[in-house]
Amino acid sequence: MAMTRRTFMRNLGLSGSSLLWAGCANGQSPTVVKANDWQPAYAKLEDEGKLQDRIDEAYAFFDECQLCPRRCRVNRRGDQLGFCRASHEVTVFSHHAHYGEELPLVGRGGSGTIFFSHCNLRCVFCQNWPIAHEGRGRRVTDDALADMMIDLQRRGCHNINVVTPTHVMPNILNATRKALHKGLRLPICYNTGGYERVEVIRLLDGVVDIYLPDLKYMDGDEADRYTVQGALDYPERAQEAIVEMHRQVGDLITDDRGIALRGLMVRHLVMPNRIAGTREFVRWVAENLSPGTYVNIMSQYRVEHEAFNYPPIARAITPQEFLEAMDWAEEAGLQNLDKRSLAQRDVFLRMAG
Ligand code: SF4
Repeated sequence: MAMTRRTFMRNLGLSGSSLLWAGCANGQSPTVVKANDWQPAYAKLEDEGKLQDRIDEAYAFFDECQLCPRRCRVNRRGDQLGFCRASHEVTVFSHHAHYGEELPLVGRGGSGTIFFSHCNLRCVFCQNWPIAHEGRGRRVTDDALADMMIDLQRRGCHNINVVTPTHVMPNILNATRKALHKGLRLPICYNTGGYERVEVIRLLDGVVDIYLPDLKYMDGDEADRYTVQGALDYPERAQEAIVEMHRQVGDLITDDRGIALRGLMVRHLVMPNRIAGTREFVRWVAENLSPGTYVNIMSQYRVEHEAFNYPPIARAITPQEFLEAMDWAEEAGLQNLDKRSLAQRDVFLRMAG
């Protein structure tokens, strides 16, 4: 998808000479920006006097919660719990520098990851099921959440990576503003399972700099089968949300160290027996986003939680299943594949002789 210079500069939040050079961030002709010339989107929104309005709008969802496609309509300020079982307060499992995320997020200082408890999707094969399904963690105030963000910045992390943020989006916005006033300057990375309402994602325009959604299933029947209480509309909801994310932030932009500043990064986990619909996924990305979209095709499917009870997903993927996924990605013309997925492909190719 062609991007004019003016659009590109606006997406970056830059003006004039701070741009070094531009292009696709795939290791062939990366977009490079001086780190010091950049400021996070939420800082600009605060300068315009609009951030508090967004927070108020987001918090209004708690009265009759429709933050995600489940649309439970419960009052989360009282003692009612919806599908996700989250209250109006945040429960955090951990916050730390994470070195296992995509390389543009990790850099040298790590990705400043905050793992939120509970989940609005809940896959039967969830690798984080004690956190997502059982809600393990401790309740914290928005002030304490802001302090975690500042702590991660102090430790040298490159971003604030909010994992499973959908059901606590209002708290994240509020904490981000509080942290901004304490000196936060890192981009917010919205790391979501993808089961989102596009109307809610629009509220994040000008707040989030990096979107990191999964696109887990391309077939509603599979999404329905492998999520607790089903999610027949997952592909539709996730796709329209991801299109909106891409509209807001565009393709990935990195600084002069290769660290992600802004843009969309999409994850897709290859599953046994082609259940994730990988061929349809890569074609959809190329046709509906951009061939330059950063895509991480992941090989680490494990039989976790309740997956043992579902024969089609009760085994690891084979090397052949991952290799065909990578072939499909290249056939679709995707140009910005995650380096570790490319390395994994090379390992499997060597194993195959
Ligand atoms: S965020 Fe939770 S309570 Fe709100 S609609 Fe989604 S699942 Fe229901």
